[in-house]
Amino acid sequence: MKFQILSLIALVGSTSAFAPFVRFERSQSALCAARKPFISGNWKLNPQTKEEAVQLASEIAASINPSSPDADVALFVPYVFIEAAMEAVGGKLQVGAEGVVPEMKGAFTGAVSASMLKSVGVQWTLAGHSERRVIFGETDEYINGQVLKLMEMGMSCMLCIGESESEFEQNLAGAVCAVQLKKGLAGVPKESMDRICIAYEPVWAIGTGKVATPEIAQAVHAECRRILAAMYDQETADSVRILYGGSVTPESVDVLMAQPDIDGALVGGASLDSSKFGRIINYESVLEKV
Ligand code: PEP
Repeated sequence: MKFQILSLIALVGSTSAFAPFVRFERSQSALCAARKPFISGNWKLNPQTKEEAVQLASEIAASINPSSPDADVALFVPYVFIEAAMEAVGGKLQVGAEGVVPEMKGAFTGAVSASMLKSVGVQWTLAGHSERRVIFGETDEYINGQVLKLMEMGMSCMLCIGESESEFEQNLAGAVCAVQLKKGLAGVPKESMDRICIAYEPVWAIGTGKVATPEIAQAVHAECRRILAAMYDQETADSVRILYGGSVTPESVDVLMAQPDIDGALVGGASLDSSKFGRIINYESVLEKV
C-alpha cells in the first residue's frame, strides 16, 4: 500500500491541524489545467419548506460574482425543490438531483427516473453517497445501474466513494476506493468519462466535523487517479475531476483546494448556510499567494 502517509497523520477537527501547509504545484500538465474546479453542495433532507429552499438558493447564487474563482458550482437538492431552485439561481449555477433509480418506468413507487429529471432540466445527479449506501442499502451493483442509466441518458454523474472509519484505521482507504470505482464505473466507456466526477468522501468525515487533512485527502485522491489510469488510461485519469467531501468549511477549503489532485468540494452541512457556502465557492487560492 502507498498509504504510509496515512499512519503519520491523525484525524483532525480544527483548522490548526492544517499547518504547516503543504504547497504542491497544482498542475504540470495541460490536462490537469483543464480540470475546472467544481464546488457543489448536497442539501440532503433540507431545508423544510420551498420558501426556505428558494431563499437559500438565491443567496448562494448571489455569492457568485465576477471575481469568484472560475469554477463550476452545483447544488444537489431534494426533488421537490429542483425547479424552484433552478428558477431562483437564474442559471448562475447548476441544480442537480440527490439520486435517481436505474429503472425508467413501471411499478417503483416513490422512485424518480433519469428521464423525469432530464425533462425538468437536470444534468447532474449524485450516486453512491454513503448515506444511500448505508441507510438505504444501495449496493455497488445498484449504484452502477444508476451511473449507466445517467450515461445512457446523456446526463452527468457525481459518483461518491469512500471508506468507513474502521476501514481507514486498517489502512484500507485505497482498497475500498478501488472496489467502489471499479464496480461503480463498470461498463462506463472512456468516451463517457467527461460526464463523470468522483467525490472522495471518507465516511468518517461526513457530518462529523473531522476534516481529512489535506495530506490525507491528497494521498487518496492521487491513489484514485492511479486507479482510474489503470481502469482507463492516464489521459482519462488526468481529466476526471475528483472532489473532496467531508466536513468542508470556509476554514478548510482554501488549503484543500491547493492540493494538486483535489479539484473541488462536495459540501453537506456548510451548504445550508449561504454565507459559509458563499465563502467556499469563493475559496482563495493558496497557490496564488505563494
Ligand atoms: C456530504 O453529505 O456529502 C458531506 C460531505 O457532508 P458534510 O459536509 O456535512 O460532512
